[in-house]
This record gives sequence, structure tokens and C-alpha cells, in this order.
Amino acid sequence: MTEEFAYPLVVTRTRRQKTASIRVVDGIVKVTVPRTLSDRHVREFIWKSDAWIQKKLQLQAECPVPQPKNFVSGEIFPFLGEPYRLRVVQGVTSSVNLQNNKLIVTVCEEANGEPLIKSLLENWYLTQARDQLRAKTQRYARTVGVTPASVTVKSYKARWGSCSVRGDLSFNWRLILAPHHIVDYVVIHELCHLLEHNHSPRFWQLVSRHVPGWKDCRAWLKVNHLSI
Ligand SMILES: [Zn+2]
Repeated sequence: MTEEFAYPLVVTRTRRQKTASIRVVDGIVKVTVPRTLSDRHVREFIWKSDAWIQKKLQLQAECPVPQPKNFVSGEIFPFLGEPYRLRVVQGVTSSVNLQNNKLIVTVCEEANGEPLIKSLLENWYLTQARDQLRAKTQRYARTVGVTPASVTVKSYKARWGSCSVRGDLSFNWRLILAPHHIVDYVVIHELCHLLEHNHSPRFWQLVSRHVPGWKDCRAWLKVNHLSI
């Protein structure tokens, strides 16, 4: 069946699912269907989703998955949506600095180059993320008219932020790789949860009052892989 379609397609039959679903992962269309669904119905389901699939594939082609980094000079690292070229230099003390579109990592020893540079960079990103996210939260808390109990920045695998019932906000440090307006959206999203602890139409109405283009921001976060 998969040859009929103009894109890489994987169909999985499962007993666990009562309805068919589609995901597009790294340019591959993954269809999961109930075990008993006939081939004809599977085909129909895929054809019906064609417009959605094409759109997803196009978006992913525009934002390719970044290749794993080797943490050597010349590689590009994003910061607040801007690309910076890594330059590794030797020095007396270890440090990380932004200078003229360059991300300069100074290391004091040659040994264990890659892990050392990686951890220096991760620490630097985390510190930047803390500063930026705390400042943005403070600024937008006033606009939204709320007061969060606390703001923390940590490493999440699958979420950008969270808001506890007690009013504690947490953010993923990887957000610092995204452009300002995307970071702003996530901050405002979590702040709005202090007033509406759900994703109801009322919540989205509140978000759109502060971020009219929130749908584009959400779509951006779905297709862009934020990692170093
Ligand atoms: Zn939310």
C-alpha cells in the first residue's frame, strides 16, 4: 500500500487503538490504525488527510532536524533565534561569551574537549535562560495582572513551561534558543494559567488579548526542534 503515496509511509496496526491517527515525524508519515480496519479504509483515511500531511511535510522540510553537534569551531548555535558560530579558544579560565555573531568558548585545557565544551555551553544557556525568563515573567506579569509565586528554569524533555495550582511557574531552558516573540508567548501562556488553570476557550481568549499571533507561535514550537 505504501508505494501508492508520494511520501515515506509507515502503517502500524494495533489492538490498542480504536480510531486511526497520523503523525509526521522527521519527514515520515506514521499512520496507526485499529487492527481490524480494512486496507481500503486505511487508504481512504490517508487520502482524506492528504492536505494536512502535505502541510506538515512542507513545514518540516523548511525546518530540518538539526544534526547532532560535535562542539567544534564553525558549528552554528542558536540563541534567541539568531545563529551564532562557535569558536573554541584556549585561555587561562573557562568562559562563554557572545561577540560579533560568534559564540566564543574559552577552555583552559585540551583534554576531553567535546564533553567539556558541551557542559560549558549548557551552563551558559541555562544562566541566560534564567535571566531572560525571569525578566520576561516579571515584565509580562504586570501586563497580565498576576503575581506568580516563583519562577524556575529547568530541563524538560517534552514541555516548554508549566504552572502549578500554587502559582509556581517553570520553564524549559531550551526556550532560550527560540526567537524573542516565541519566548514571550510561552511566558504569557503560563502567566495566563494563573487566571485560567485550563486550556478552555476563555483561556485562549485571554492569551490572544496579549499575543494575537499565538497560533503561529504554537505551530512554530511544534515544528522546530530546540536543542543544542
Ligand atoms: Zn497551557
